[in-house]
Amino acid sequence: MLVPMRAILETAEKYRYGHAAFNMNSVGQIEAAVRVHELLRSGAILQGAEASNAFMGGEMDFMHGSAEKKRAGAKNIGDAVKKFGENSCVPIALHLDHGKSLETVKACIDGGYTGVMIDGSSLPYEDNVELTREVVKYAHPYGVTVEAELGVLAGVEDHVFSTTSTYTNPAQAIDFFKKTKCDALAISYGTMHGANKGKNTVIRREIAIAIKECMMHEGIDGFLVSHGSSTVPQEYVQQINQMGGQLENAYGIEVAQLVDVAKCGINKINVDTDIRLACTRNVMELFRDHPQLKDSPAIGSLYQDMIANPRNFDPRNYVGSIMDAIMYGKIGHEHIKLIDECMQNGAMEAIAPLLVQFGSYRKSHLIEAVTLEQMADRYKKEGI
Ligand SMILES: [Zn+2]
Repeated sequence: MLVPMRAILETAEKYRYGHAAFNMNSVGQIEAAVRVHELLRSGAILQGAEASNAFMGGEMDFMHGSAEKKRAGAKNIGDAVKKFGENSCVPIALHLDHGKSLETVKACIDGGYTGVMIDGSSLPYEDNVELTREVVKYAHPYGVTVEAELGVLAGVEDHVFSTTSTYTNPAQAIDFFKKTKCDALAISYGTMHGANKGKNTVIRREIAIAIKECMMHEGIDGFLVSHGSSTVPQEYVQQINQMGGQLENAYGIEVAQLVDVAKCGINKINVDTDIRLACTRNVMELFRDHPQLKDSPAIGSLYQDMIANPRNFDPRNYVGSIMDAIMYGKIGHEHIKLIDECMQNGAMEAIAPLLVQFGSYRKSHLIEAVTLEQMADRYKKEGI
């Protein structure tokens, strides 16, 4: 069933593990992600960022998608999550990653999202508070969980650009929770968006500890989120480069550090790059092992689009010729099915080990099966 993201985070908090959240960029990935969470009996947090919404709405220039395309994409993602997840044996949350405006939040809630992030971290503090408060007021009557962000992460992610990093001030985080009543807060503490986090990144775990300690003193019932936390398995990078890719300085965060910070109070861990890498590795292998597919009328142009930029590992940049499969799961040709399998297998391969290592596997039964309506009632009673 679909649940508010808060229900999943409450269990992660109670049992002190970090719940991984994965970004979805095709119907096949959503189907596979649901299946692997079911296999491992883990609750699922599946995410769509603004750019993924635009892409899933058919916008190939997805970093600059129109509100209309984002709305269509949010619905396509929501429809797929409902199709595969509504009757699932594990609780599933569909969450907006890095929403930039109330307009996007509304489109996602209309599309069936059960959690939304509003990222006002690039705004002056008081403006961030105001925007987040506005989103909380809109989302909570629907029972939808709200994540916000305080402090600036370095790196590149969908619609997230910053060259410097300003760590989150713990005292300000407390003030922010109190003023906005948001459910969860993404903090800046040394992680970074994208595949180039630098070698040997060390997370400033003491920042998470300080915030969580203060939250307990102040009785704040909220959650902390670690963004930019892809692990970038090095074998994916090597395999891609052995087949002609040119990925440089691709490093992630060590799994051990992420497991550690979960014990320090991080409840949600965002992972995106790992799935992109695994999917691209799979597609490259497919064409290497079956070179005749390079001339396929159905996927030959996909191959050309892929090899046109050996530094790219984001499937969204080369699957433009098979968008019916990506957006709606409509597989019109047996060769397109092969690509879809690459996406499905890549998602499962990247997701499964993290569910085990982070510790959410075999815990789905501990998550409360609460509906959005019930959650909305709780917010109302507490006046938030
Ligand atoms: Zn992020």
